[in-house]
Amino acid sequence: MESRQIQENYRRISETIAEAADRSGRKPEEITFMAVTKTVAPELVNAAIACGIRVLGENRVQEYLSKKDSYQKNIPVDFIGTLQSNKVKYIIQDMRLIQSVNKLSLAQEIERCAAKSGLHQDILLEINIGGEDSKSGLQPEGLPELLEQIAELEHVHVKGLMTIPPPCQDTSFLQAMQELFLKTRLQIQDSGIPDTEMQILSMGMSDDYAQAVWYGSTLVRVGSALFGARDYSR
Ligand SMILES: *Cc1c(COP(=O)(O)O)cnc(C)c1O
Repeated sequence: MESRQIQENYRRISETIAEAADRSGRKPEEITFMAVTKTVAPELVNAAIACGIRVLGENRVQEYLSKKDSYQKNIPVDFIGTLQSNKVKYIIQDMRLIQSVNKLSLAQEIERCAAKSGLHQDILLEINIGGEDSKSGLQPEGLPELLEQIAELEHVHVKGLMTIPPPCQDTSFLQAMQELFLKTRLQIQDSGIPDTEMQILSMGMSDDYAQAVWYGSTLVRVGSALFGARDYSR
């Protein structure tokens, strides 16, 4: 993969996002196009930033720490992978958003580290919308209780939801996620849970980002469609 190829991919994906936004009655600027960087060499990540990418998604603490100094400065980074509580302390200084919070104990550890560093951490709650055993997200039924518990944490602020739906021929999981997102927004308004704003719906990857935008996604996480197929041997 060369920079020129990334540039072409970037342009094509941006256009597709803009069209989908338009069809769903929104402006293209309302959708964040995140570049997912796992296994991608830092030079290529920087090439994507040069094209116009404005936020990166990182999956693994170790890989992130080894690459971050090679990234162009001041690019916002979100954590999107499975996060073990004992690793929070290594990334908390750097993350715009931790998207993969799925349980109270993890939110509590983020609270502890954020308070210690004197900062506030925005998070998304990861939902297991397909109810799959293999996925680490929270079951939708557990969401109201977790929102109330996290509202007690002074340095942690819930900004929305994230999901990785099961591979699927139709769009039923995207639709279910949109419904959950809208329902949760209403619940928060009604119950006045403090410091919680449901503004971000992080949904859609290389194979389904256009459909995800149609179903209300505000942030798409794109890896292979931008950088080419991943090489896990590197
Ligand atoms: C790898 C990954 C992506 C991107 O996947 P692609 O299909 O390559 O676009 C998005 N979100 C998460 C959480 C990922 O781990």
